[in-house]
Amino acid sequence: MQGMMMHRPLLIRDILTFAAQAFPHAEIISARTEGDVHRQTYGETLGRVSQLANALKAHGIAHGDRVATLAWNGYRHFELYYAISGSGAVCHTINPRLSEEQLVYIVNHAADRMIFVDTTFVPVLEAVQDQLPADITYVIMTDRAHMPENSLNALCYEEFLADHSPQFEFPEFDENTASGLCYTSGTTGNPKGALYSHRSSVLHALMVCTCLGATMPEGSSVMPVVPLFHVNAWGLPYSAPLLGLNMVMPGGALDGPSLFKLMDTEKVHSAWGVPTVWQGLLAEIDAQGRKPDGFADLVVGGSAAPRVMIETLEKMGVSVGHVWGMTEMSPLGTHGNMPGWVRDLPFDQMIDRKALQGRRAYGVEMKVVDEDGNPLPQDGQTPGELFVRGNTVVSGYFENPEATEKALDADGWFGTGDIATVDPNGFLSIQDRSKDLIKSGGEWISSIDLENAAMSHPAIASCAAIAIAHPKWDERPVLVAVPAGDERPSLEELHSHMSEHFAKWQLPDDVVWADDLPLTATGKVSKLSLRKRMADYVLP
Ligand code: ADP
Repeated sequence: MQGMMMHRPLLIRDILTFAAQAFPHAEIISARTEGDVHRQTYGETLGRVSQLANALKAHGIAHGDRVATLAWNGYRHFELYYAISGSGAVCHTINPRLSEEQLVYIVNHAADRMIFVDTTFVPVLEAVQDQLPADITYVIMTDRAHMPENSLNALCYEEFLADHSPQFEFPEFDENTASGLCYTSGTTGNPKGALYSHRSSVLHALMVCTCLGATMPEGSSVMPVVPLFHVNAWGLPYSAPLLGLNMVMPGGALDGPSLFKLMDTEKVHSAWGVPTVWQGLLAEIDAQGRKPDGFADLVVGGSAAPRVMIETLEKMGVSVGHVWGMTEMSPLGTHGNMPGWVRDLPFDQMIDRKALQGRRAYGVEMKVVDEDGNPLPQDGQTPGELFVRGNTVVSGYFENPEATEKALDADGWFGTGDIATVDPNGFLSIQDRSKDLIKSGGEWISSIDLENAAMSHPAIASCAAIAIAHPKWDERPVLVAVPAGDERPSLEELHSHMSEHFAKWQLPDDVVWADDLPLTATGKVSKLSLRKRMADYVLP
C-alpha cells in the first residue's frame, strides 16, 4: 500500500525563499574584492537573486545550460548559486587553483555558456581564453567603478542585473534536475564531474542541519573558509540559510591575521575549513595571545586534522568537529558532533575520539571491504577500502561513461579509494588514501598516523609521510617536515617522541627538512607532487 502524502519537488530555491521569510535579520557579510565589508539580508539577497535569474533568462540561459563561476566566497557567488540553479540551469563552480590544462579541459567538457569571474581571477581566464569556446560570455563580479581592464570583452555584474525586476517566477521542475557541477581535482587523468541534483542538494542541506545544527544556534555567525568554488563549501550555502545563520564570507584574504580580524569583528561562532587554513589562524591566535571574540566552534576536514591542532583548539574552548567527505558525496559523509558519553570521557580520551574522522551521517551507508570486495567487520580495528551509498552520493560522472562504469561496485556502492576502519558506533578512522598507504614488508603503515604523531613535536610546523622504494621491504616511510623555527630535531629524537604510538619498524627511516610542502588545488598536501619532488632521494 502506498502512503497518501503529497509529493512536492525538493528544490534549492525554496531554501532561500524560506530563509528570506523566516530569518529577516540574518545576513550575508562579505569581505569584498573591492576592499570593504558588505552586508545584506537573505530577503535582500532573494531580490538580487531574482534580478539575476531574470537577467540570465534575458541572456538566453535555458534549462540545463551550464553557467560557471570562478570566484571567492562572497554574496555575489552565493547569489549565483541560487539564481543559476533556481532558474533550472546548472551552476558549475570552477576551482581557480586548477592547472591551466585542467581549467581548459573542464570549461570545454562542461560546455559552459557563461563564466562569472571575480576581478582576482580575470588574468587566469585571459591566459587561456584562446582555448575556451569563442561564444562564452564573461561577467566580472563587481560594479562599473571597479571593472578592471580586460581582454575578455566582459560584462559588469552589477550592470548585468541592474535593470531587471526583483520578482522572478521560479519555474517548477523535477527534483532530480541537475543543479550543480563540480569537478574532482583529478590527481590522475582528467578531472571528473560530480553532477548534483536539486534533490541531493536539499537532502544534503537537511543532513548537515541534523548533524551540525545543534552547535550553531539561529542568529549566530558561521564562516565558510572552505570555498564555494569547490564541493559547495561543504553545503553551507544551503544549510546556513535553513538554520537562520549569518554567513561571514572571507573573500580572498585567507591568511591568519585577516581571518582573525574578520572573525573578531563579526563575532564568528563557527568556522569551517581545511587544516592548512587553521594553522595560519592558530599562529595569529598565538601572536595575539587570545582567540577571536565569540569563536566557539570549528569544523575541519578535507584532509586529516592533526590531533595536536584539535587539542590546542579544545583547550582554548573551541569545540572541534572533524568531518570527512568527498566531492562525490556532496560532500559530507560524517560529522564531528560527539555523543554525551564521549563528552563525558577524560580530556585525552575525548580528543582521541575527536581525532577520528567523525561519525557516519544519517543517509550515508558505509561498508569496508577486503581486496576481493568481501565485507569486513566494523569493529574499529579492521582496515579495508571504504565504500559508501546514499542519496547524496554520485551514481556516475558527468558525460564520462568510462569513469561512470568504474564508479560503483556490482551492488551499487561507490568506492572512495580511502582505507578506513568503522567502529560499532559509526566512528570512521581514515588510515590513508589507498594510493598513499605505505606498505613495508607486506604490512600497512598509515601515513596519517605518522604525521599526527610527528606534528605533536613542537619543532614541526607541518609534515607528510611518504613511501620510498626499498629493496628488501618494498617501501619504507620517510617524513618530509617543515620546521616551526630554527630547531631541527634528530631522527632519534623524533623516534623517541613518536615511539609511544608505533612499533619500531613503523617509524620513519629518515626525516627530510623542507621549506614548504606542495599543496593541491584544494589546499591539501599533494603527496603526488611530493613524491615527484623526492624522486631522486635515496634512503640513508
Ligand atoms: P579534492 O582533493 O578534489 O578536494 P575531495 O575533496 O573529494 O577531493 O577529497 C576527498 C578525499 O579527501 C577523501 O577521499 C579523503 O581521502 C580525503 N579526506 C577528506 N576529509 C578527510 C579527513 N577528515 N581526514 C582524512 N582524509 C580526508
